[in-house]
Amino acid sequence: MSYLPLYIDTSGKKCLIIGGGKVASRKLVPILKSKMHVTMISPEIHNEILEFVKDKDNFEYHSREFLDKDITDQFLIVAATNNKEVNALAVKIANKKNILINMAENSESGNTLIPSVVDRDPIKIAISSGAASPILTRLVKTKLETVIPYSFSKLALIMIEYRSKVKKTYEKILDRRNFWEAFLEGPISEMILSGHIDKAKKALDDSLKQKKLPNQVGEVYLVGSGPGDPELLSFKALRLMQKADVVIYDRLVSQPIMNLIRKDSEKIYVGKQRADHAMPQENINQLLARLALEGKKVLRLKGGDPFIFGRGGEEIESLINDDIPFQIVPGITAASGCASYAGIPLTHRDYSQACIFVTGHLRDGTVNLNWKMLAHEKQTLVFYMGMHGSKIICEELINHGLKSSTPAALVIKGTTADQEVIIGNLENLPGIIKKNKVIPPTLLIIGDVVNLHNKLKWFDPLLSQGKNNTHMQS
Ligand code: SAH
Repeated sequence: MSYLPLYIDTSGKKCLIIGGGKVASRKLVPILKSKMHVTMISPEIHNEILEFVKDKDNFEYHSREFLDKDITDQFLIVAATNNKEVNALAVKIANKKNILINMAENSESGNTLIPSVVDRDPIKIAISSGAASPILTRLVKTKLETVIPYSFSKLALIMIEYRSKVKKTYEKILDRRNFWEAFLEGPISEMILSGHIDKAKKALDDSLKQKKLPNQVGEVYLVGSGPGDPELLSFKALRLMQKADVVIYDRLVSQPIMNLIRKDSEKIYVGKQRADHAMPQENINQLLARLALEGKKVLRLKGGDPFIFGRGGEEIESLINDDIPFQIVPGITAASGCASYAGIPLTHRDYSQACIFVTGHLRDGTVNLNWKMLAHEKQTLVFYMGMHGSKIICEELINHGLKSSTPAALVIKGTTADQEVIIGNLENLPGIIKKNKVIPPTLLIIGDVVNLHNKLKWFDPLLSQGKNNTHMQS
């Protein structure tokens, strides 16, 4: 067999599907979408099909057995019955009449494959393993689905809309190619991908009017990289990490995540860990703006989520003043990541109806918080930057009414290959922390939900590496 991938205008063409079961249903969906007129012949029909064709006017169904004379002048036949002889007969007739035929179950005995499609209409990526294995095809499809943004459709539609305008402005093919390359590489395409269609069209119109390539302005991507495990990155984060010219990152971004950044990008470390302010916040804000104004695609990569104890707001504010385009990509915050990987649900119908994220950062040696609001039963407290203040935090919570036996956990380097969990209570946790040499980052979780750790713990990387069980219990 030898196959040519081919895209054919099928609108209005006739298709006959023989069979009305699950397999026929799977084939029907893309065929109806391609605007063919479908006739389905089968004594019985699957409910799923009836549901799907409810509002389709390019479908008709005949409840009966297939007959030789049903194959007339169709463009495509799909043989999808569970009767081998019927399917073989359909192939024989179709071949004689030179009609395309797809055999649903045993595709090699037909002459046409219906590929699996990654659909970003009008972009369609057809995948076929040449009848080798549908599982292989599915695997390839899944991989492609993750790297091609859903909004690529919009990008293609805008390119169709502007094709003739661009042709008028740039008569030479080479100039047109340069224009479109600059468009795809630059901020206008990002505006479209992030849903700012009107803004993008205005920028396109301006650059065509001035006959200037649309790549003069830089942009900033403020991206949350999650708590450490690179598999917790979002597709969008990964895409922008591979697009950026320059990356500004701090200590919380894990090495495996740094390895996923575009290899030839410039990387600038700006510190930001307790007592390690390699660069003051003000300077970081200025740096982002300066690099973007130079026309660069700047990735500001942050641990967790940029809008949760991440100063993301401050950094973006300074961009607005300079009218620099930006995007904000959320990340999985340490509380979600650490709680899931430690088997501690943050809320639970029986134990906790609320969850509060709190900063435990010490200012002048004290933690200035609304202890009355925090010291309540049936709620979970998550302290970021709380390890150094853990003694004060636990004492204050007891002073304000929480039982000293209230369970508390310290999750160390959550979601990474070095994750450890220390379990104790408000009374003894600070002592346990003091006894063990704890390396940040750490997250403090307080509340009855911590008790569930014993039952729900599932991620214990140090144990699986054959090291000592590092669960330090009280
Ligand atoms: N924007 C980040 C938080 C930055 S504040 C977020 O959304 O997660 C820094 C604090 O986050 C650290 O002091 C620590 O308390 C917590 N943290 C971040 N990553 C962590 C990790 N992998 N394990 C434990 N705590 C973490």
